[in-house]
Amino acid sequence: MRILVTDKIVNEGLEILAKKGHDVDTLYDLSHEELIACVEPYDALIVRSATTVSADVIAAAKNCKVIGRAGVTYDNIDVDAATEAGIIVCTVPTSNIVSTAEHTMALMLAAAREIPAADESIHSGEWSRDFFMGRELYEKTLAIFGLGRIGGLVAERARAFGMRVVGYDPYCSVARAQQLGVVLVDDMNQILSMADFITVHVPLTDETYHIFSSNEFARMKNGVIIVNTSRGGIIDEQVLVDFMDAGKVYACGIDMLEHEPYAQSPLMEYDRAVLTPHLGANTEEAQMRAGTAIARYVSNALEGLVVPTAVNMVDAEINDAVAVYIPACQMCGSIITQILGEIPKTLSIAAAGACASDLQVLSASALGGMLSRRGQISVSSENVDATALRHGVKIEAFISADSRGYDSIVSMEADGLEVSVSVPTAMHEIHLISVLRYRLDVVPGEHSLIVLYPDKPGQIGIIGTILGEAGANISTMAIGKRANTSEVLAFINIEEDVSSEVVARVAQSVDASHAWSIRL
Ligand code: NAD
Repeated sequence: MRILVTDKIVNEGLEILAKKGHDVDTLYDLSHEELIACVEPYDALIVRSATTVSADVIAAAKNCKVIGRAGVTYDNIDVDAATEAGIIVCTVPTSNIVSTAEHTMALMLAAAREIPAADESIHSGEWSRDFFMGRELYEKTLAIFGLGRIGGLVAERARAFGMRVVGYDPYCSVARAQQLGVVLVDDMNQILSMADFITVHVPLTDETYHIFSSNEFARMKNGVIIVNTSRGGIIDEQVLVDFMDAGKVYACGIDMLEHEPYAQSPLMEYDRAVLTPHLGANTEEAQMRAGTAIARYVSNALEGLVVPTAVNMVDAEINDAVAVYIPACQMCGSIITQILGEIPKTLSIAAAGACASDLQVLSASALGGMLSRRGQISVSSENVDATALRHGVKIEAFISADSRGYDSIVSMEADGLEVSVSVPTAMHEIHLISVLRYRLDVVPGEHSLIVLYPDKPGQIGIIGTILGEAGANISTMAIGKRANTSEVLAFINIEEDVSSEVVARVAQSVDASHAWSIRL
C-alpha cells in the first residue's frame, strides 16, 4: 500500500510501515494545493497538527482508507467528510499525557520559584539571592480544573509533593476522584477561593472559552499561582494580566496562548509569567510513542484489523439501516447528559427493527453522544467497552420486539431517564418520538428548550412571548403527552440559543416543574 506522511514522525514509525511492506513517501511542508494535487494515489495519510485535512483534501484522496493523526486532538481533520468518504480517522490519545503532566509540574515549580528570571539574572552576571524568594508547593491547596487523563496524572504528582488536591469537573465521578485522592468540589466559585495553585486541564469548548475571566479571578485567593497547559483561550489573557498587575495573581505558567503560533500575548511583558511555546507534548518519549503507535494503527487499518483509537465508525460491515442511527444515538446520548446535568451511570439501549443488527455501533454512538459535552472523545465499536468502564458507565444493549409501529426505533434509558428515536428510511431525518416517556414527534434543531409544565390553555403563548422578547424565534415545536399525568412536555426548537435567565423566566411563567436548554 502507498502511505503519504506529511508531518514529521519518528524514524521508528516509518520503519514499522516499511517492514510491513508499505511504500512510504515523506513530503513535508506541502502547501494545501500541493497536498490536493498529490494525494490521490495514496492508501493512507499520516499527519500531525500542521497539515489541514479538509473536505477538499479528502475529496482528492480517492484511494485513501485511513488517516492517522500522530497526536491526541484532531481539529485539523474534517472527520465528517472522512466518514462520508469511508475513511477511518485514528489518533494516539494517550501518547503525550505524561509529558504534559510533567510539563505542568515544571511550570508550577518554575513559577513558584521564579526559575526563568533567576536563571536570566545569573546569566547576565548578577548574584541576587535575596531578590528571588520562592514559595513551596508542600501543604498548599492545588485546584485542578478537569480531572481527565492529564488532570489525573497531575493530581498523582501533586500529592507526591504533599499538596492538598481539590478538583472541579462536572463530568468526573466521585469514585474516580477518590481513586486519585482528589476532593471534588462542585461549586466553581468555592474551589476558586480555596486554591493557592490552580491548574487547568479542560478541553477548549464553547463552555470553557474564557472560563477564567474577571469574575473568576476576583474570587481567587491573593497571591494565587495559575498554570495552563490545556488550550489557549480558556484563560482570558488580558484579564490575567490585569490581575497580575493588581497583585492578585502572583505568577503564572502558560504553555498555550490564545493566538498561536505568534507570541503576541500581553503576558510577554511579565517576568513572573513563565511562558513556553506549546511544549506539553514535546518530549522524545511522547513523539516516539505517537510516531510508532500511529504507524501500527494505520497499518492495522490497511490490513482490515481493529483500530482501537478510531475516532469515527467506518466499517464496510455497518449497513445503511444501522448507519443512519449513528447520529440519532449520538443525539439521544447528548440530550440525556444535558437533561441529567452529568454523565449517567447506567445506559440501557433497546433497538427494534433493522437497526438492531449492530448493537455495538449503537452503544458506541450513544456513549459518544453522552460524553460529547466534555470534550473531544472518540468512541468506536472497538473501544466502547473500555471507554464506558473508564467513565463509570454500565451499558447494556438488547434487541426489542416492540417497534411501536415504526420501521425501527432505538429506545434508551439512562439513570431512569428515557429518550427514544426513529429514523424513517425514506427521509433519513432523526425523529425524537419520546422524551421522559412523553410521546411526541419532533426533528430536533441545533438549539431547543424542553419544558415540563401543567397542561392549561394559553401556556404556549406565554412561552412564545418570553422567547420572542429575548429575540429567539421558535422554528418548530411539539407537545408530548404521557398517560396519567397532568403535565405536558414541550420540545421547542429555537433559532438562537437563549440565556439561563430566559430559561428560568420561561419555567416560572408557566409553573414548569422542569426546563432545560439543549444544544446539539
Ligand atoms: P481529557 O478529555 O482526558 O480530560 C478533560 C477533562 O476536562 C474531562 O475529565 C472533562 O470531564 C473535563 N471537563 C470538560 N469540560 C469541563 C468544564 N467545563 N469544567 C471542568 N472540567 C471539564 O483530556 P486530556 O487528555 O486530559 O487533555 C486535557 C487538555 O490538555 C486538553 O485541552 C488537551 O487539548 C490539552 N493538551 C495539551 C497538550 C500540550 O501540548 N500542552 C498536550 C496534550 C493535551
